[in-house]
Parts: sequence; C-alpha cells; structure tokens
Amino acid sequence: MSNEVNAVIIMFGGSGDLAHRKLYPALFGLYRKGVLKDHFAVIGTARRPWSDDYYRGVVRDSVAGSEEEHEAEAEAFASHFYYQSHDVTDSSHYVTLKQLAQKLDDQYAVGGNRMYYMAMAPQFFATIATHLKSEALLTKTGFNRLIIEKPFGHDYPSAKELNDALTGTFAEEQIYRIDHYLGKEMAQAILALRFGNPLLKTVWNKDYIKDIQITLAEAVGVEERAGYYETAGALRDMVQNHVMQLLAYLTMDEPTAMTSEAVHEVKSRAFDQLHRYTEEEAAANFIRAQYTAAAIDGQAIKGYREEDGVASASLTDTFVAGRIMTDAPAFAGVPIFIRTGKRLTRKSTQVTVTFKGGKTPFGEGQDAHLTIYIEPSQGYTLELNGKQLGEGNILTPNRLDFRHDPAAIAAAPEAYERLIGEALAGDQTNFNHWRELAQTWHYVDVITAAWQKQTGIETYPAGTMGPQAAFDLLAKDGHQWYWQPTRVRMAD
Ligand code: NAD
Repeated sequence: MSNEVNAVIIMFGGSGDLAHRKLYPALFGLYRKGVLKDHFAVIGTARRPWSDDYYRGVVRDSVAGSEEEHEAEAEAFASHFYYQSHDVTDSSHYVTLKQLAQKLDDQYAVGGNRMYYMAMAPQFFATIATHLKSEALLTKTGFNRLIIEKPFGHDYPSAKELNDALTGTFAEEQIYRIDHYLGKEMAQAILALRFGNPLLKTVWNKDYIKDIQITLAEAVGVEERAGYYETAGALRDMVQNHVMQLLAYLTMDEPTAMTSEAVHEVKSRAFDQLHRYTEEEAAANFIRAQYTAAAIDGQAIKGYREEDGVASASLTDTFVAGRIMTDAPAFAGVPIFIRTGKRLTRKSTQVTVTFKGGKTPFGEGQDAHLTIYIEPSQGYTLELNGKQLGEGNILTPNRLDFRHDPAAIAAAPEAYERLIGEALAGDQTNFNHWRELAQTWHYVDVITAAWQKQTGIETYPAGTMGPQAAFDLLAKDGHQWYWQPTRVRMAD
C-alpha cells in the first residue's frame, strides 16, 4: 500500500538555518521513502529576493550526498521547490502566496492538502497565522496543518497569547507543535521499555524506585545565539519543553493505546499531578548557574558573561538543576532530579532510574540503576547486583549493556524526518498539546518568579558538571548523580 501524501508545503523561513540543516534533509528523507513523491510542492518564503533556481541550488546543497544516484534524486526532489520573497507583515504577499499555492496545487494534482511550517523567529508566528486567515489561504478541501517551532512563548501569558492567535486560524487538531526531543528514537523507546515489559511495569513505582534523574548536557556554549539565549536561559530553553516531556514519559500512567488521544491524556494527567511549589519552595529546589571561563584541553574557553552579545552582569541561567516532586499516587515521595546546561563536561542526554537496594541475605545490596541513553549514544544499561567471581558470597554490581549499532542509528530517520512524516500522516502523538504547554509553563513560571527575586547566580567553570550546589541538592537527601563523567565508571 502506498503511503504517499499529497501536499503543498509552505515553509516560512525557507532561507533559515533550521530549514537548511534539518528541514530539507528531513523532507528529502521522506521523498526517498516515497512519502513525498509526485504530488507535492514546497514553497520557501523568506525576505531575500531569491529565484526558484537559486533556491533549488540551496535545497540540493542541503541534501548533498556522495553517490551519483543520490545527486539525480536530489535534483528531482529540488525541482518541486519554489521560492517566494515574502515579508510576513505585508498582506499583499499572502495574496501572491495564495495564488502560487493554488497554481502548484493544480500543477501537482495535490487536492487541497496544505502544510504550513513556521521556521522563523517566534515573534512572527502570530502575524503569519492571522494573515493566513485574513487572506483566506486555508483550503476548503484536503487538510490544513500547521507545524510550529519552539519557543512557544516565554511564559504562560505569552504562550496563551500566541495560542489564541493560532487558534483563531487553526483548530487544535491542526496544530503540530514541535518538540524535537519527542522525535528522538530513545525518547520514544522509554515508552516501549516501560509499557512493553511487565517485568518493569511491576517495579515502576515508589515502592521500588528511589529516584529518577534526567540529564540534558551540552558541551557547547551559547555559540551565535546569545541574543535569543539572553531572553530565555536554560529553564525556558530546555526544562519547560524537553526535560518536562521526558519527565512525563517517565512518570505518566500507561496509555490505553498508543494513540494520540490516549498518550496526551496520560501525559497531561502527569503534568497535572506535579507538585506545585510555592516561590520559596522553588527557590530551595531549583538552582540556576552560569559557566565561567576555563581552559579545556589547553584551550581558553570564555565565560558566559564574556560571550558576544551577553550583558556583563547577566543573570541568565546557562545551567539548571532541580528537584521535582509529583503527587501522582504511584510516585509520591520519589524525587525526580533534573539538570541541563551548556559548557558541561560532555554532550549527553540520559535518564537514570534508581531502584532501591537494601537488606539481602548477602548483606546490604546496592541500588540498581536503569539508564536510558538518548543521545549521542542510544541504548540502555541495567546495573544489577551479581555475585563477585570466586569464593564467597560477595555482591558486586554487574552491568547489562545494550547499545544500538551506530550504522543502524545512522540509517534510521532523524527526529525531524519522523516528526514531519507523522504530521503529514495526521498523527499528533509526538507533538505538544496546548494543555501540556499551559501546564508546563505554569510550573516553570513559579521558578522564574522565585529567581527574579535573587540578585546573584551560582557559577561553574566551563567543562564541569555544574556548581557544587547541584550536587548538594541531591546529597542532602542521601542521593547522588549517577552520571558523573569525571568519575570513571563503565563506558557511557
Ligand atoms: P534563522 O534566523 O536562521 O532564519 C529565519 C528565517 O526567517 C530566514 O529565512 C529569514 O529570511 C526569515 N525572516 C525573518 N524575518 C522575516 C520577515 N519579516 N518576513 C519574512 N521572512 C523573514 O532562524 P532559524 O535558526 O532557522 O530558526 C527558525 C525557528 O526555528 C525559530 O523559531 C527557532 O527558535 C527554531 N529552532 C531553530 C533551531 C536551529 O537549530 N536553528 C532549533 C530549534 C528550533
């Protein structure tokens, strides 16, 4: 059976970095699989005055490969691309865009399906949505879907305002809010592990779990994005979305089916059950910090405040660590420790669930650890107590280690390809529902408010795993970070 989808895809921000690095390769991946085939066209819009030919060159360049066959495919793929110079604030440009979309719809016998992709600065999202309605771009036949990038607001009120603007044009079922972490193989695998194994289901609760730890560590600094980052910080850039989504996957109830409705229902319940801190509690349970200059491998690394575009007295968080509690009956009392930051020791996204050790006939049993490696390594390890080789009954941790084969990982679709493919197929499972965004912003806004009352910020030297306070946060209750890259354990 053919899985081909007919569509005219309108890309706002067609000359941008995201489009070039991620979106065109993702569309090309779908083209190679036949999801996009004969009946599709892409209109790239941006301010620059490009010709179709120039634009096709840009698209070919972004999907460039080595083999000749690939080149011919890329050529054929790029021939479906059209460019329109477009100022998103100018109504007359939407009229031209509508005419071009209709022409391509006829030319490629698309049948009215439209996908609008907002891949540009977020301050334009609402403007575009409003114009799509006022200039009547949405078709009467076929689907009309909107894919929208993050950030979705910078707090609850701004997110609500944006959502109100979008829902003036699109219904919730037509809005696909991207959180590319949800497209990652091993993020999706959390659900397979949790709900595909009765063995794990039995112990996935407060009786057996001591803590849950989520780490999203970046080795890079703020790079070219200081302008945006200064207004965001790690809490808004990483915690409100990616960390929270992983947390929901780890703590939500079992969905009745792997359908969008069922998954969003349990996810939203998990967010509802998060224990809401007062500002005082938030200040005690969340630590913000900034990296300072250090030498890494003999190379001088700037501190955050010395980076171009960063205010010299900036209080923007480049690191967050926190202790999150949930009132969900299955997890009451189980701390969920999270941390994310820039300029940490090593890039890695990983989750560890610590299962309680305790008294055994062999003496005290160590805690058992299940670690899920989301990126760059993909797989999981389970550290259990085994018997030390040789005489005597001595317990020792043994580690079972599964990693996906790097060649298989390379051949698997990237997050963006998966997610765009799912949006084309009308599957919202791995996209953010407005309800979840509202819940996570409410949670995060209390922390922001608590921090706004603080006049200082913790610091950590670039290349470390954050400030001492991030270790003390766990230690005070008898916990510790499982992943400490400077402490040699077994290969991560
Ligand atoms: P970018 O600055 O590289 O591109 C912005 C695009 O918008 C360009 O094509 C530009 O021509 C166009 N544009 C700007 N003002 C315009 C106007 N008035 N009228 C018409 N076009 C206009 O940005 P980017 O890095 O590609 O990011 C795009 C979106 O994706 C942002 O929301 C960003 O937060 C999000 N995002 C980007 C990345 C990434 O890796 N780049 C990752 C995650 C999310």
